[in-house]
Amino acid sequence: MQSTALCDNVLQDFQVFMYVLEVGEKDYSLNGIELILSTEIVKANLASKTLTSATGATFTYDILIIATGSTVVQLSDFGVQGADSNNIFYLREIDDADRLVAAIQAKKDGKAVIVGGGYIGLELGAALQINNLDVTMVYPEPWCMPRLFTAGIAAFYEGYYANKGIKIVKGTVAVGFDSDANGDVIAVRLKDGRVLEADIVVVGVGGRPLTSLFKGQVAEDKGGIKVRLNDLIICPC
Ligand SMILES: Cc1cc2nc3c(=O)[nH]c(=O)nc-3n(C[C@H](O)[C@H](O)[C@H](O)COP(=O)(O)OP(=O)(O)OC[C@H]3O[C@@H](n4cnc5c(N)ncnc54)[C@H](O)[C@@H]3O)c2cc1C
Repeated sequence: MQSTALCDNVLQDFQVFMYVLEVGEKDYSLNGIELILSTEIVKANLASKTLTSATGATFTYDILIIATGSTVVQLSDFGVQGADSNNIFYLREIDDADRLVAAIQAKKDGKAVIVGGGYIGLELGAALQINNLDVTMVYPEPWCMPRLFTAGIAAFYEGYYANKGIKIVKGTVAVGFDSDANGDVIAVRLKDGRVLEADIVVVGVGGRPLTSLFKGQVAEDKGGIKVRLNDLIICPC
């Protein structure tokens, strides 16, 4: 196992999840698995059971496992005003983490607003607080991680965060961002009329399954591919 090289004491939680499992190509071939790297599938024909790569190579299969992952939902997808300002971050790829680390170092002791009260929001709220930013979290639900936590469990975490100095604003959403002449974010505007000063904004409002390759060829449900046992399996986490 080898960890990513992020700064000390920064995004500690994130680092834990970004361990890279090093498996040699030899290990695959020894087990009868053909490993084809640096290859993007750009076309899938489920009727003929054929996949086509960006370089035009074709692959046929008997069983297809779709494990293409997901992409981050961005506020600009919904036309939120100012959502493309500088220093508004998402966390999905290592590059995203590197950019965020650079901003944390550049905005020492500044104000951070976290949009979203899920895993990413909670983890990044903690990471920014540890790095001495003045953190405010905003989410519309009555408590954090509402799909997983009961009110009681959430109250424990929210109390823990409050004791660390993290402010939590619930029951409203970010509807816009103000920026300065350089395009750097300076404030988050909330639906309830409040305005939060911000040097850094981190948005964690969910992911979207990467299923475009299969559009029109599979039944869809809740933004992903509908799972039918003995047919398709997808894990759009
Ligand atoms: C910051 C962060 C923290 C997280 N923390 C946790 C955690 O603590 N615990 C947890 O369980 N989960 C965590 N997750 C979620 C976890 O990363 C995902 O659940 C997991 O990566 C999903 O695995 P996957 O294989 O479905 O998709 P991915 O890991 O996204 O893998 C998808 C793969 O498909 C490839 N691919 C996509 N399209 C194509 C194509 N057209 N052709 C060929 N290849 C393609 C991609 O290149 C990639 O290799 C975290 C995620 C993030 C962003």
